[in-house]
Amino acid sequence: MTLHIHTPLIESRPLSLAAGRNIWLKLDALQPCGSFKLRGVGHACEVHKARGAQHFVSSSGGNAGLAVAYAGRKLGVPVTVVVPETTTERARQLLCLEDAKVVVHGSSWQEANTLAQTLVGPNDAFIHPFDDPLLWAGHASLVDEVAEAGLKPDAVVLSVGGGGLLSGVVEGLRRNGWDDVPVLAVETTGAASLHAAMQAGHSVELERLASVATSLGAKRVADQALACTQQHPVRSHLVSDRAALEACERFLLDHRVLVEPACGAALALAYDPSRLGSFQNVLVVVCGGATATLEQIQAWLQQAD
Ligand SMILES: *Cc1c(COP(=O)(O)O)cnc(C)c1O
Repeated sequence: MTLHIHTPLIESRPLSLAAGRNIWLKLDALQPCGSFKLRGVGHACEVHKARGAQHFVSSSGGNAGLAVAYAGRKLGVPVTVVVPETTTERARQLLCLEDAKVVVHGSSWQEANTLAQTLVGPNDAFIHPFDDPLLWAGHASLVDEVAEAGLKPDAVVLSVGGGGLLSGVVEGLRRNGWDDVPVLAVETTGAASLHAAMQAGHSVELERLASVATSLGAKRVADQALACTQQHPVRSHLVSDRAALEACERFLLDHRVLVEPACGAALALAYDPSRLGSFQNVLVVVCGGATATLEQIQAWLQQAD
């Protein structure tokens, strides 16, 4: 038994018609805590528990923290999540629903993370949101499930924040012998840390983040994510916040699932036939996200340019 579930893989009629080709959806928005994060985080938490960890610590007020909180509750291990003051009331509530201890500290993620590090005792495990081989191994299960279902896509579309999902999906493609299946890696223009690293040829730190897709907000990607782009065919794509938000609204109408703008970024590419080259069978990782509300998405759309 794993903590994550095997999610549905469906052929989307609305997206296929919009994109003029077959669009397949891996619906990780349906993971119990609302995002793909549970795959890697659940695996990491199980390994740390087996090694004797008695307490999990996270500094993510987003889906990674939620996944740690869920995993800890299921494994009977207490969880502390340190979040900055900017974390929304909704995100705090979701963490409390999973019985995590929420500590609010500092005005930025850096400050919250610094405090979180001091709380990690010798018998505790700190669970990173994207930069850990245990996470990538867990995320790779998404590709195993697609292979088990008998579908070999000719491209995979996914969103990139710190690059944990990208690293895991590339690991999954390679362990299934799919070295020839390219990844279309999507970021919003205000959170394009992978794009910047690929252009520079080395990892770079963005000066600032400026996107409503907060779950993509890593100023610097994991070194492994950049290494993936050098070892596997990965194409970087950028979409606007507006396109990501419109994709969220459209996907809600088409599939009755509400996702965060972070996921809307990948969906925006999938809805746009001009961005998909000549690929005929495209797999889209519907990574999900639990922190968005419809009201918030509509309010952002009012302001987006
Ligand atoms: C974390 C997250 C991402 C980005 O994943 P990385 O591993 O940081 O690249 C994308 N979408 C959602 C909903 C997320 O929670």
